[in-house]
Amino acid sequence: MKKEFDEVADVYVINTCSVTENADKECRQLVRRIQRKAPEALVVITGCYAQLKPTEIAAIPGVNLVLGAAEKFNIATHLKEMTNNDAAKICSCDIEDVNVFTASHSINERTRIFLKVQDGCDYNCSFCTIPMARGKSRSDSIDNVLKNVASIAEGGAKEIVLTGINLGDFGKGYTGGRKHEENFFDLVKALDESNLIERFRISSIEPNLLSNELIEFVANSKHFMPHFHIPLQSGSNEILAAMRRRYRKELYQEKVGLIKTMMPHACIGVDVIVGFPGESDPLFKETAEFLQEIDISYLHVFTYSERDHTHALSLQPVVPINIRHDRNKILRQLSFTKMQQFTEAHIGQTRKVLFEGANKNGMMEGFSDNYIKVTSPFKATWENEIVDWVI
Ligand code: SF4
Repeated sequence: MKKEFDEVADVYVINTCSVTENADKECRQLVRRIQRKAPEALVVITGCYAQLKPTEIAAIPGVNLVLGAAEKFNIATHLKEMTNNDAAKICSCDIEDVNVFTASHSINERTRIFLKVQDGCDYNCSFCTIPMARGKSRSDSIDNVLKNVASIAEGGAKEIVLTGINLGDFGKGYTGGRKHEENFFDLVKALDESNLIERFRISSIEPNLLSNELIEFVANSKHFMPHFHIPLQSGSNEILAAMRRRYRKELYQEKVGLIKTMMPHACIGVDVIVGFPGESDPLFKETAEFLQEIDISYLHVFTYSERDHTHALSLQPVVPINIRHDRNKILRQLSFTKMQQFTEAHIGQTRKVLFEGANKNGMMEGFSDNYIKVTSPFKATWENEIVDWVI
């Protein structure tokens, strides 16, 4: 039976992330909390950090099992063979051998389900360890995605968020490869035409993979929501080149411009990294001004942190930590202002809001098609329903 993390359970699974700063420290803290609460429980660590640093993780007192990128899907089999007295076991193979796509989706919500359709990445951004942790780009087939969507829809969900590590690179087949067997635009068209579920969102897409035809399609789509999340990482072409990103700021600006021309109501989220090596004051200012200028709705701001085995480690000059944090604060403030402006621009408009089931102290939450968060006094009849709502 599934339990909340704060409850006593027989097995705890911690899914680690290599993007999180201090993944190691956070992991240790969580294991200590588990040991205090349930000393008899088995503790399993999975995810990117488990793939990248299995030995370090196995050495954390209280850890019983470390599962790498391929083995995490066999968790039940491994658990059957374990006891709490065993020494920590590592089941992980070289990432080059992680070469099969395994579909999965979230199960903790009824309203909105995250469906993985792609995994891994063939890019080599200079700050990123994800290709080392997740392997090469590989994907589900369109036919299989349609089957999964049909089964999720049968369970009653109204919205599916398509996810992947490099989602726009969808279509390289179950084992990856050099060429695309299918492509992301074909998937989007097939899903839209299937009419299987009310709503789809695209979790995140690289700007160079967000084609103009895809933007036009979403603008006229019945099921794809006017909401894009597009990593930018820097508004300076010099830094983008050092990051080995595959676009320049002008392309980004063009994509945002096209989205807003075709869908003035669209929500656009942006990932940005501050404090990358070589990001001088003027180059940071260039990023901040660029973000100020373009018509985006919110930011996810990441503070650059050094990662083993990445090219960025060799780049100079390094930005002092306190300056990285100051820049993070400046852009988070900008994000707050942008979100406020975006929401205010829609006040008085009627938009379709999908309400989620949970009753949070007498209140419920939902998201509009263009991702404006709405709260309302709880009404059982609105659970998992799409309601016309005046913003
Ligand atoms: S596109 Fe770049 S940042 Fe994203 S997963 Fe691939 S290598 Fe990492």
